[in-house]
Amino acid sequence: MRIDVVSIFPEYLAALDLSLIGKARQDGLLDLTVHNLRDFTSDRHRTVDDTPYGGGAGMVMKPEPWAQALESVRGGSRPVLIVPSPAGAVFTQAMAHELAEEQHIVFACGRYEGIDERVLEWAKDSFDVRPLSLGDYVLNGGEVAVLAMVEAIARLLPGVVGNPESLVEESHSDGLLEYPVYTKPSAWRNLEVPAVLLSGNHARIARHRRDEQLRRTALRRPDLLELLDAATLDRADLAVLAEAGYAVVGGRLTRTQVPSEGSA
Ligand code: SAM
Repeated sequence: MRIDVVSIFPEYLAALDLSLIGKARQDGLLDLTVHNLRDFTSDRHRTVDDTPYGGGAGMVMKPEPWAQALESVRGGSRPVLIVPSPAGAVFTQAMAHELAEEQHIVFACGRYEGIDERVLEWAKDSFDVRPLSLGDYVLNGGEVAVLAMVEAIARLLPGVVGNPESLVEESHSDGLLEYPVYTKPSAWRNLEVPAVLLSGNHARIARHRRDEQLRRTALRRPDLLELLDAATLDRADLAVLAEAGYAVVGGRLTRTQVPSEGSA
């Protein structure tokens, strides 16, 4: 996969040299280049921003340096252009999987009040433009969002994570949060690992983990439960969910009561 990132703070993206993503780059699994937007300006001060039309606080990123930068990285195909923005659709694991299939992704890191909107309009001719948000809060720039999105996408590329099995049983892979995990020692500071995990009984362990996924999702992310296809739930699932205050109504999981103290 080829990735190009355009930013006024290329140093911010140095973390993409580290750990599994850095190794993927060294191994040739990921061809990632960071570009400085200021290299695409034409004035002495390398200006990338100006005051907003219509007034208001802050500055807006000028369109022409963006057009020059995007033309220089677009290559022969029609890349995906991800524009991080708190006004975009929220980036999800499902999107990470879909984007991991792409040949070429370009990220445009905004700063200040964002990029002149005409850049997104203009780019539609040559890019598949996607404004994406990391979550419902405002960052100072797109770089942190790019670090998160590149890591989420690139770890799904074949060969990047050593054991591909570890990608299967993760939070969000099946619409639920992951179960709690433990390591040695089995007793630590008066806290014991659940006995079933030491039993060697794989069926019981799988059931325990599934129950924990359901309980944890009900407690922390009830919005995810409501998206589950009720047809995929077995009787044991439904019993755990009933304890957590959920029942199937009209084919969808619905909260029927406020969960009691011990239920989640
Ligand atoms: N005025 C913009 C608004 O309210 O939508 C916010 C601009 S923000 C200060 C500057 C830049 O940070 C944005 O252009 C975007 O690149 C990035 N950014 C901020 N919050 C983000 C988020 N939740 N997800 C992705 N990028 C974000």
